[in-house]
Amino acid sequence: MKPIVAIIGRPNVGKSTLFNRITRSRSALVDDMPGVTRDRHYGEAVWNDAPFLLVDTGGYLIDDEDAFAGAIRDQVMQAVAEADAVVMVLDGKGGISPYDRDLVTILRESHPKVFYVVNKIDGENQEQNLYDFYSLGIDHPYPVSGEHGYGVPDFLDDLSASFPEAAAYPEDNDEIINVAVVGRPNAGKSSIINRITGQHRLVVSDVAGTTRDSIDTMVKRDGQLYRFIDTAGIRRKGKVKEKLEKFSVLKAIKSMERCDVALILIDSSEGVTDQDVTVAGYAHAKGCGVIFVFNKWDLVPADEKNPKLFKERLDMGAKFLTFAPYTTLSALTGQRVEKLFGEIRAVYEQYNTRFSTGEVNRIIEWATERTPPPLHKGKRLKFFYTTQVATKPPTFVSFVNYPEAVHFSYRRFLLNQMREYTGLDKAPIKLLYREKS
Ligand code: GDP
Ligand code: GDP
Repeated sequence: MKPIVAIIGRPNVGKSTLFNRITRSRSALVDDMPGVTRDRHYGEAVWNDAPFLLVDTGGYLIDDEDAFAGAIRDQVMQAVAEADAVVMVLDGKGGISPYDRDLVTILRESHPKVFYVVNKIDGENQEQNLYDFYSLGIDHPYPVSGEHGYGVPDFLDDLSASFPEAAAYPEDNDEIINVAVVGRPNAGKSSIINRITGQHRLVVSDVAGTTRDSIDTMVKRDGQLYRFIDTAGIRRKGKVKEKLEKFSVLKAIKSMERCDVALILIDSSEGVTDQDVTVAGYAHAKGCGVIFVFNKWDLVPADEKNPKLFKERLDMGAKFLTFAPYTTLSALTGQRVEKLFGEIRAVYEQYNTRFSTGEVNRIIEWATERTPPPLHKGKRLKFFYTTQVATKPPTFVSFVNYPEAVHFSYRRFLLNQMREYTGLDKAPIKLLYREKS
């Protein structure tokens, strides 16, 4: 997990040139034509042994200085929100534009760590070009030349010294709870992510998987790290509704591959739909923990605000997930959003629990003695012993004489017994049967 540094600034100030110099890569295109739409680019960089990830936000800006409004502004702010540090690039040859002033004002309010870099200062003899920039009210503009390297080391010294100590990023993957936020288009996925990350940011992000614009967002609460999987993609929106629905299911499946707990968001103003049940089915198949989140609760009329009723409707379709906890909230007002962290943690703890073989055996022995399995083709089904073979989810194997003789209803009985006596009431568990003669 590396700190993320976002480069921002108006077109043609030299962002990609600087990006290339710092990452020493060719992954960002240097283009003399301003206004070329580009994707965000990520590059790895290391300075003074401190690795970090550099994001070139060039693609967000078009060559229209009045355009820093609406969607573009949102996208820039999204990149800024994900970043641990922001580098605003100014043009030491072209001077200050009104756009620069706006950006400085916005950044001052939206990010605690901004470095102002005045580019195209190609040597000491051009340092006088720097002085104008103090009028922006910035304390320490760095004179640099992306093209020739002048001033870049001094700037990088300060940038890398600003990163949190490496110890702030735990290496141990087990300590991170991986959370997928899934649901139909418009259910409120990006709203909830924005609310979670917007408030208190430790927020480190890292590039995961092979797609370069797949961004995971790290959040820390009460000493626990949570990784919200691929939250950048959540914002991506298409045009055709059916395509969007399909895409959101595919995306849900993909992010659930990597999650411990899936938050299945449901738009309460629309009620429970078939697609919600479909997504729940995939979560079940994947074996991850699930929390049903009835979002937009603020839109539910007072006389219909009965969470149990919503859950019952869901249980009719998603019979296999009746144990999954549920909560009502509003991403818009923020009501109960913070409580999600406690819920996620509770599910995760069960998802990751391990029991001793002794404990598990006692439960199964007791259950099979009290309610013996029915005879199978005249033979008695015998349980030798049971042991937990995995966590995430807790998976148990019972060694029996005839695995095929464990009927569906008896499986369900044992599963319920296990749930009751292990206390695993919120997470999925698996019971498997192997033959031992
Ligand atoms: P971006 O649109 O902000 O990504 O800007 P680019 O990196 O594409 O650079 C825009 C133009 O400025 C290009 O013609 C670069 O060659 C030029 N440029 C970039 N950095 C420097 C520099 O340090 N010194 C000088 N003299 N020109 C530069
Ligand atoms: P996504 O497609 O799942 O990422 O959904 P968005 O987060 O983009 O939300 C879709 C729409 O629902 C936006 O207009 C949001 O403002 C709105 N919305 C999201 N959460 C809530 C909520 O809790 N209450 C209300 N009233 N609106 C919400």
